[in-house]
Amino acid sequence: MSEFKTSSFINESVTILPGISTTRARLLKKLDVETVRDLLWLIPRTYADWSTPVPISRLQEGEIGVIRAAPTTVPSLRRRGKLSWIRSRLADHSGTINTIWFNQPWLSEILLRGKTFLFRGKVEAKGTHRQFMNPDIRDDDNPIPFEPIYPLTEGLTVSVIRKAVAAALEDPCLQIEESLPASVRASGCLSTAEFALRRIHFPESQKDIEIARRRLAFEELFLVLAGLRALKAGRARVKSPLMICDGKCNERLKETIEALPFVLTSSQKDALRDILNDFERKFPANRLLEGDVGSGKTVVAVLAMAVACWNGYQSVLMAPTSILAQQHADTVDSLLKGSGIKIALLTGSVPPAKRRHLQEELAGGGIDILIGTHAVLNENVVFKRLGLCVTDEQHRFGVSQRLRLTDTESSLFEPHVLVMSATPIPRTLALILYGDLDLSVMKDMPKGRQAVKTYTAREKDRPRVERLIRREVDATHQVFVVCPSIDVSDDTPLRSAEETYQRLSRDVFPDYAVGLMHGRLKSSEKKAVMKAFSEGKIDILVSTTVIEVGIDQPRVTLLIVENAERFGLSQLHQLRGRVGRSSLPSFCILMSDSDDPLVRRRLRALCKSQDGFEIAEEDLLLRGPGDFFGVEQHGLPNFKVANLYEDAALLREASKACEELFSEDPLLSSSKNACVIRSFRERYGERLARPGI
Ligand code: ADP
Ligand code: MG
Repeated sequence: MSEFKTSSFINESVTILPGISTTRARLLKKLDVETVRDLLWLIPRTYADWSTPVPISRLQEGEIGVIRAAPTTVPSLRRRGKLSWIRSRLADHSGTINTIWFNQPWLSEILLRGKTFLFRGKVEAKGTHRQFMNPDIRDDDNPIPFEPIYPLTEGLTVSVIRKAVAAALEDPCLQIEESLPASVRASGCLSTAEFALRRIHFPESQKDIEIARRRLAFEELFLVLAGLRALKAGRARVKSPLMICDGKCNERLKETIEALPFVLTSSQKDALRDILNDFERKFPANRLLEGDVGSGKTVVAVLAMAVACWNGYQSVLMAPTSILAQQHADTVDSLLKGSGIKIALLTGSVPPAKRRHLQEELAGGGIDILIGTHAVLNENVVFKRLGLCVTDEQHRFGVSQRLRLTDTESSLFEPHVLVMSATPIPRTLALILYGDLDLSVMKDMPKGRQAVKTYTAREKDRPRVERLIRREVDATHQVFVVCPSIDVSDDTPLRSAEETYQRLSRDVFPDYAVGLMHGRLKSSEKKAVMKAFSEGKIDILVSTTVIEVGIDQPRVTLLIVENAERFGLSQLHQLRGRVGRSSLPSFCILMSDSDDPLVRRRLRALCKSQDGFEIAEEDLLLRGPGDFFGVEQHGLPNFKVANLYEDAALLREASKACEELFSEDPLLSSSKNACVIRSFRERYGERLARPGI
């Protein structure tokens, strides 16, 4: 019974702690703190360092200093209107300093003449003298050397949190579980969880802070890596559809490749080989196909799906938008023309009767390749024999979604999973985001591609930009104009798609066909617009970022981005990927009147580089460690201590430790290592849970 109590204390609501009412608990929730454990993982932002008092004579002007001193004068309290202040002179063996406190009248009763306190505050110049401004005061006996400062929310003070944390740490029921095996701690020179969680809040030295921080950051990284690794290991025990590409199948593949309107790049060949190798293994593949925009990922997926079909299996290809799904359907259709492979498109807009028919066909095995939005996941779509699941532009889906995909219930095997992404991810990050995936990186681009010449332009350059549009359209090319918002609103001065469309179609280019595309159009309307555009019936397409992902239109040679400052670097790179898809010279104009140096630098980075990896690195640098690359968007938890940018070296260490642990104990079945699985589950729960871990 008592054991139950001890182990559960950490999982109790914070209201169990003194000083935490339900009101305060609600405030704490804003900081993601609900349980005692969450509170202990509320990591101090910084510390007020009281550890090293200096003699008064050594206080530095303009800096924060700590002294051990006593008032030599009776503090005098003055008031004027609402303002009050107290003056006193503090002294130690080395000298004296004039000190002033504003609006803390009660101090006059505490500051007894001759009694020694610790003071901590900023020293300012006051004429020829120095003055101590509003210093904090602590009793001299038994001070806390480093006082934790927590992230706050309105209504909560540091001292409330500090007291609650101290109470939790002092509670005899508290048991801090160890989440790292002793072997991992030893080889990484890491402290225990107990030490780290206590000292991160109440360190006794600067060194303590470093040790604690390193241990906690390592733990976060290690647990995610190990969790993903365990997923991978778990997968190795699941049966997969065996698909072998030899004999007849291989012949057909060769024929299909020869019939393509282009020669595959060696990256495409390598990636295809990786995938076909996966198919011959006994467990389901989970592969990330990473290639910059325009590198030609689709055809690789299409060939893989064809091989699945020739082995008697169905495939599904999922796209993040219905426009893209439609386009994929067209691409697959044209690439596999004459192959006899049956293809169907299923999006949210397919009418019920047709959908029912589709579903029946699918369940009966009459459809080989199903293409759709991720809505296909939520439909009652049942495959007869699903062998391969392809997700396009995966950065739009989270990890959890990725995992759900493979969870086709009731089947004897799980399909192979292929994820295509154009998000160039720096190596260190790929490790953690895709730790459970095998990776094929497509480095080279199809031949004949030209760099997209990229320029910035300001409002005053608009006439020139419009001349450029005219030139391209007159050469029978097409133009994209991307706007940050759909319609005009009074409070933002942004170019909206509606307004730009009106202006271009009525005033500027009445002689051209101008089209409008945005997410609020009905899907039949979107389809019609895209069709007209791909048939060349629209010269200039004004659009929101719905075109960001994957639209492939080789005759588009000019992209104009309005209010380019509103877009992130990687997003702009994605957008730019919509042009330069043929051997025609193409251009991208980034319109912005912003003078923000960060914006200018971002835009310049884009003008300078075409390389998605380079741009991603720059993006990291510019965004800084705080807002790192939309980690959340990848479906991974936000780390509380670890910072993927600054802790790259630690991440590598954690990854190495993880490899070692798994090579000794591939399923973490030894009791010494059970703590990893337990902690991972506790931390991430069902979010990443799969059979096998
Ligand atoms: P992404 O990797 O961005 O998804 P796509 O698969 O949409 O790229 O391919 C971009 C364009 O390049 C398409 O028009 C496609 O037909 C073409 N393409 C693909 N592979 C090659 C190749 N090896 N040579 C020439 N063009 C290619
Ligand atoms: Mg694509």
